[in-house]
Amino acid sequence: MSLFEHTAFDNHEKVLFATDPATGLKAILAVHSTARGPAVGGCRMWSYPSSAEAVTDVLRLSQGMSYKNIMADLPIGGGKSVIMRPEGDFDREALFEAFGRALESLNGQYISAEDVGVSPDDMVAARRTTRHVVGLPDGTGDPSPVTAKGVFMGIQAAAARGLGSEDLNGVKIAVQGATGHVGAYLCRHLAEAGAELHLADIRAAELHALAKELGATVVEDPNAIYDVDADIFTPCALGAIINPETIDRLKVKVVAGAANNQLETRDMGAELQKRGIFYAPDYVINAGGIINVMGELDARFDAKWVEGKLVTLKATLGEIMDTAAREDRPANIVADELARQRLADAAEQKALAAE
Ligand code: NAD
Repeated sequence: MSLFEHTAFDNHEKVLFATDPATGLKAILAVHSTARGPAVGGCRMWSYPSSAEAVTDVLRLSQGMSYKNIMADLPIGGGKSVIMRPEGDFDREALFEAFGRALESLNGQYISAEDVGVSPDDMVAARRTTRHVVGLPDGTGDPSPVTAKGVFMGIQAAAARGLGSEDLNGVKIAVQGATGHVGAYLCRHLAEAGAELHLADIRAAELHALAKELGATVVEDPNAIYDVDADIFTPCALGAIINPETIDRLKVKVVAGAANNQLETRDMGAELQKRGIFYAPDYVINAGGIINVMGELDARFDAKWVEGKLVTLKATLGEIMDTAAREDRPANIVADELARQRLADAAEQKALAAE
């Protein structure tokens, strides 16, 4: 298995492989960049079939956090950790205390929050052995309202480019995962702005209740959301939903939503562009969640600071979409290039400051 040559290794500053036989801990902590500040990103616990798959996951996710955090203009870098879930019964608290000791050994270069398979209570256990955790139950809480606000503003920016105006009054929007944490807050913003909503979710009772509250149309078959004759498609449920099976069914001019990893493969960005569909790169438009986490890290954090960051995020998204249109290139590729450029600039500034 290759490490330094791995496609997602991408000059990671540090990768720690940590084990603790007493608790069964097998964890990988990846620090991609600390150019702008300590690396911040979640800890994921998963039953990985092999350590090679755990390595691939952590490197890919850690690189992604660097890109997301620098696009949100936050004074933090990017990192991520994974725990290979022990087989059979295990002492969860002891496992996370051991994870905390591994985290502590990085001296604050990486700060962990929770991710898939990890709860705020697990972070409480880790907190006993390290200070470098966020996402605690008494922290800034559910990030979804801030994520939803950021996605709403991003949809306005995307509509300005794809539909000629950021006014969403009367604009037809198809939302996938409408009743989820982000989806429900977002739908309320969209309804307030006068959008004509078509909503899908696999949770039928919640979906009908939300549609009734907002005067929206229910798309009964969740899989039919791709076929709705709408202006904007807003994915807020699953990843990989822009794929060869769905792309030709889309009738929209804009794809902009909260879901992570919307493109099944990178070349789906070019396929959207070929079809004249404006795409809002997911890790840019959904960065509100990480902005919310700053409440546990930055003394300046308050509602006004968050609003300022969301306005900057909207401008960054606009800049990406404008560059993509002007240069006739896929927006996801333009976003990655801008992220890499900003990371290189930040690394240069850090080096200059250290001289
Ligand atoms: P959630 O689990 O609360 O919501 C997902 C919703 O999608 C649920 O209502 C679920 O029933 C629905 N769903 C599942 N499968 C579906 C299908 N096939 N068709 C239609 N609906 C389906 O999750 P969330 O926290 O709202 O996050 C939604 C997406 O946004 C995820 O991709 C997540 O990674 C991403 N995201 C969330 C945040 C945040 O702050 N919560 C931040 C950044 C990115």
